[in-house]
Amino acid sequence: MKILVTGGAGFIGSAVIRHIVNNTGDSVINLDKLTYAGNLQSLDSVSTSDRYTFEQVDICQRTELDRLLLEHEPDAVMHLAAESHVDRSIDGPDAFILTNVVGTYTLLESVRQYWQGLSGERKANFRFHHVSTDEVYGDLEGPDELFQETTPYAPSSPYSASKASSDHLVRAWYRTYGLPILITNCSNNYGPFHFPEKLIPLIILNALECKPLPVYGNGRQIRDWLYVEDHARALYAVVTQGEVGETYNVGGHNEKENIDVVHALCDLLDQLRPLKGEQPGSYRALVTYVKDRPGHDQRYAIDATKIQKSLGWVPQESFETGIRKTVEWYLENLEWCRAVQDGSYQRERLGASVKE
Ligand code: NAD
Repeated sequence: MKILVTGGAGFIGSAVIRHIVNNTGDSVINLDKLTYAGNLQSLDSVSTSDRYTFEQVDICQRTELDRLLLEHEPDAVMHLAAESHVDRSIDGPDAFILTNVVGTYTLLESVRQYWQGLSGERKANFRFHHVSTDEVYGDLEGPDELFQETTPYAPSSPYSASKASSDHLVRAWYRTYGLPILITNCSNNYGPFHFPEKLIPLIILNALECKPLPVYGNGRQIRDWLYVEDHARALYAVVTQGEVGETYNVGGHNEKENIDVVHALCDLLDQLRPLKGEQPGSYRALVTYVKDRPGHDQRYAIDATKIQKSLGWVPQESFETGIRKTVEWYLENLEWCRAVQDGSYQRERLGASVKE
């Protein structure tokens, strides 16, 4: 197969591309605008493969999308390109509406035209896989409720509202035009190559510099954490074996309060990179509670029974194994983090895009 991945220079998109190049015989076209969140260095390990191509394109640019589809003739599109950071969506929702809603619409129209021009098996086997979030379902009530594929949408933030809108568009393109779509809604991801503004890398990197470890509100918000490579395997299973028109929830069965995640990181760092000094303490002493995020949902948790039963997917990492791997990765890859923090990853990518 030839798979077009949008947002392939991002956190999850790059994990998907590494998974495909390293574990399958498929080819990948990485379509990415390279916003602040796109980092081609996350693809260094696969970028020289003859099954990998990069195209710097914005999903809002219809002509470019049309050209790219005709030129590369993909068998499937995995759509991950998005503005993805909730705090940024609160400060400036514009980019979220543009990319997540208008961009998804533009991509759907371009893909529909391309798919309608296919024939025979190529048309029958084509897939458009839209990658979404559990945040579209809003807040869960009580400790036992779980998000199911049938849970009504109730998004709380500009980010989740824009992702909910894109999910509705994708479903409508299936019902109205018959475009062969699949949707996945996944819980919080963590793991290597995660942009340092997100909770887990932020805590690790702040701790290493002995800076305060900011925790929103009382830190009791619950998230269901999934190791990013488990998510990449789930996405590949869905695009290759999923049933057209279906939605699959993807989750890690790892519900944790934010404060427990922060404490777990501190405890691992205490073991792996102990604080120095006459009376070395724990990184836990750096935890600082800050004003809660507006509209902050209290609890998300996924029921992943459907993908488990129908596609045989289960996560390979527990929270304990995944979080240890993650901390070890950051300790071994401080260069990658430094390039993001000092902005040099953006200078390099400008060079890369000129070459493309
Ligand atoms: P990310 O922010 O790390 O990466 C997004 C990528 O999209 C970047 O490479 C960026 O350059 C690219 N992009 C942004 N706007 C674009 C545009 N207009 N045209 C082309 N490319 C553009 O995001 P992520 O965490 O990798 O998330 C990927 C997808 O998975 C998103 O759709 C997100 O909603 C969804 N998701 C994320 C999580 C999570 O925990 N991170 C959980 C569930 C679902």
